[in-house]
Amino acid sequence: MSSLRIAVIGAGLAGVSAASALREADHQVFLFDKSRGCGGRLSTKRTAVGGLDLGAQYFTARDTRFRHALQHWLDSGWVAEWTPRLYCCDATGLHESPDDQQRFVGLPGMSALPRQLLGDAVLTSQTRIAQLHRIDAEQWMLADDTGATYGPFDRVVVAVPAPQAIALLEPAPTLQQTLAQISMSPTWTLAVAFEQPLTTPVDACFVRGGPLDWISRNSSKPGRHGNDSWVAHSTPAWAADHLEASPESVAAHLLDALSDVLGIALAEPAFTYAHRWLLARPDETRNWGALAAPELGLYVCGDWCLDGRVENAWLSGQQTARTLV
Ligand SMILES: Cc1cc2nc3c(=O)[nH]c(=O)nc-3n(C[C@H](O)[C@H](O)[C@H](O)COP(=O)(O)OP(=O)(O)OC[C@H]3O[C@@H](n4cnc5c(N)ncnc54)[C@H](O)[C@@H]3O)c2cc1C
Repeated sequence: MSSLRIAVIGAGLAGVSAASALREADHQVFLFDKSRGCGGRLSTKRTAVGGLDLGAQYFTARDTRFRHALQHWLDSGWVAEWTPRLYCCDATGLHESPDDQQRFVGLPGMSALPRQLLGDAVLTSQTRIAQLHRIDAEQWMLADDTGATYGPFDRVVVAVPAPQAIALLEPAPTLQQTLAQISMSPTWTLAVAFEQPLTTPVDACFVRGGPLDWISRNSSKPGRHGNDSWVAHSTPAWAADHLEASPESVAAHLLDALSDVLGIALAEPAFTYAHRWLLARPDETRNWGALAAPELGLYVCGDWCLDGRVENAWLSGQQTARTLV
């Protein structure tokens, strides 16, 4: 196949994974993302108290192809294993809950992995693509929400969460109908840092009951510098009930919940931040891998084609590239 000009909309891990495989196959790839950089839900917020992972906390590796790629990332120093002192907090209280699961994190933050995979690919950031226009039987133009246009492209890969992809897929009604089946739930994230480390052995904790479902000591991950920092995720149900609450009130509420789970009084934080993920994770598992309307030159990928995990976002991007090539 001769070299194609391919637009990839969405530079989260799925889009970056597809882009890197397409570039390896000698195609010209042009990524677009509405955010300031790449990574999407693999997000690390840079702050005065150090980098804070606001989205995915770690990833696991089950698929052989993913494990193979992971070995390269480990060898390159892009990721490292994280071995937290793992706890569970349930109706019986807070207790140790060790398991055999290997957990990996980006270095120095989760966003490092997509950034490394992006390499020197062309990314047009802070650009929200709003429409795809077919200009003839072969080619596409993209339009952003200011009306600026980009192209022409021979193929388009849409690598954004399903509910956001639907509007872009007007030229492919069958794909739109398939994507309409996907629902995704919200999460509120609390990130806090303290001058003095909290006196607790907990590095990570699965929470059963109450507003939180996960807590981690961000600063216990390898390669992190700065204050003692913590990230707590709300349950999807709590986020849905507090969707329009102010970040300040969410932070206060989740800080209390963090104190309850750890069973300690918390000092005044040196840093507090609350972030709302409207589309945090898909509600159901699918085995679609990726979707396509090859007759139109349109391809769609994302974690929601499988389930809401880092590994699956990468696998979905790889499958899109294989289908396209
Ligand atoms: C709070 C939270 C905790 C999580 N914890 C874990 C975990 O511990 N382990 C794990 O494996 N997974 C976890 N996940 C899931 C994991 O983060 C995702 O599965 C994965 O990052 C999804 O990647 P993606 O590329 O499919 O989508 P995204 O990362 O959402 O990427 C989509 C990109 O598209 C861009 N975009 C959207 N619309 C447009 C548009 N119109 N124009 C241009 N750009 C657009 C967005 O800005 C974004 O960068 C978590 C997710 C969240 C939110």
